[in-house]
Amino acid sequence: MMNNSIKYGNSIIEYDLDFSERKTLGIKVHPDKSVRVTAPMDTDEEKIKRKILSKAAWILKQQDFFLSFHPITPPRKYVSGETHLYLGRQYRLKLIEASKESVKLSAGYIIVSLRDKTNKSRVKRLLRSWYKTKAELHFNKLFSENVHIAESLTEESPSLKYRWMEKRWGSCDRNGTILLNLELIKAPKVCIEYVIIHEICHLAHLNHSSAFYELLGRLYPNWRETKDKLERLMV
Ligand SMILES: [Zn+2]
Repeated sequence: MMNNSIKYGNSIIEYDLDFSERKTLGIKVHPDKSVRVTAPMDTDEEKIKRKILSKAAWILKQQDFFLSFHPITPPRKYVSGETHLYLGRQYRLKLIEASKESVKLSAGYIIVSLRDKTNKSRVKRLLRSWYKTKAELHFNKLFSENVHIAESLTEESPSLKYRWMEKRWGSCDRNGTILLNLELIKAPKVCIEYVIIHEICHLAHLNHSSAFYELLGRLYPNWRETKDKLERLMV
């Protein structure tokens, strides 16, 4: 597999190129925004580039529509004074040595108490489990407030799951299971709600077709604004 790129307007489209026995050229855009091109054996490179260029607008649109999650925030150090997000607001981390472990929010601080405040992996673990507890609470609440939307879209009632994910904010499968990235607890509630509604729309359309966007636009008219907010804040 080769790594290639083409220029289209101001954008650079990078893609992986593979050759196979197929007869036509195939282009796939994945949720992590990567582009995979599969070409028939012996197709010359110029021809491949021309073909990709002719599909460039479509590729960029697909990349734009995925609810991708690309963390570029510097890795956290888990030391006092560092900022951490919770529901779209920044809090400073305060580490306190104590015999009893706890995590609490107080006046702009996330206060983590533990025996040894130089034990970063312990701080990280405590913080993550606190985020998870908060996520369960808020995700379930926002989900139950919005799940009625699904009634008109599918016979089955969707279920909600969550876990830490590397590359996407959420997903929805054929069985009606909506999966949310626990990282979303760091985003404003409107953004969490947007991801839930986006995934609920997938109960009716398991793709990003124009029918999908028509439905999303009806259920969440200013989705684009909220999506931008999410991506600006979190990436
Ligand atoms: Zn989607």
